[in-house]
Amino acid sequence: MRIDLHTHTSPRSPCSSVAPLDLVGEAARVGLDGICLTEHQVLWRPDEIAELAQATPVKIFRGNEFTTNQGDILVFGYEEDVKELLTIEELRDAVTAAGGFMIAAHPFRGFKTFGIGQLQMTVEQAASRKVFDFVDALEIRNGKVSDQENEMAARVAARLDLAGTAGSDAHRLDEVGKWVTDFEREIENEQELIEELRAGRFTVADASGRE
Ligand SMILES: [Zn+2]
Ligand SMILES: [Zn+2]
Repeated sequence: MRIDLHTHTSPRSPCSSVAPLDLVGEAARVGLDGICLTEHQVLWRPDEIAELAQATPVKIFRGNEFTTNQGDILVFGYEEDVKELLTIEELRDAVTAAGGFMIAAHPFRGFKTFGIGQLQMTVEQAASRKVFDFVDALEIRNGKVSDQENEMAARVAARLDLAGTAGSDAHRLDEVGKWVTDFEREIENEQELIEELRAGRFTVADASGRE
């Protein structure tokens, strides 16, 4: 089951230009079986999702992208909208209590611009970032960052023995499905999505199937 785990729609994510109906239409057109709506700090209501789902054969799941003091975190299975900046410790405690799942989003976005020291950063040094002690997985393929940034995330995930997910991070229609996560099993609801994430029963691919 091919799912884009990281997408943004307008107006819930002001940075996005994609209307929800257009997003699900494009997801179907490019052959996705599911998409996850991961707006910034705001979760879709179940009744709104149910309405949107009537317009498409594509399964629609809800997540949330929280900004923390340790970067952006994709969260599944946590029902609160938290508007203020959270520390990674606060978010981890809350999500653990809710039985949810946390993924470090685009963990090396911009790392080449941090300074000359970062250019020489080894995988070992990169893997020692605090955020990785608090997440269940890393996003190793993100549509908005460079190949080099994705590659560092993939190497760090391997080093830490953490699972690696993929998502487009689409903010425009033509970005939908740029990177996808291929799950081994059929997923009917968010609880099953979390179970499959936790079990690691997935691989990553781009729109053409390249890993
Ligand atoms: Zn982000
Ligand atoms: Zn995002």
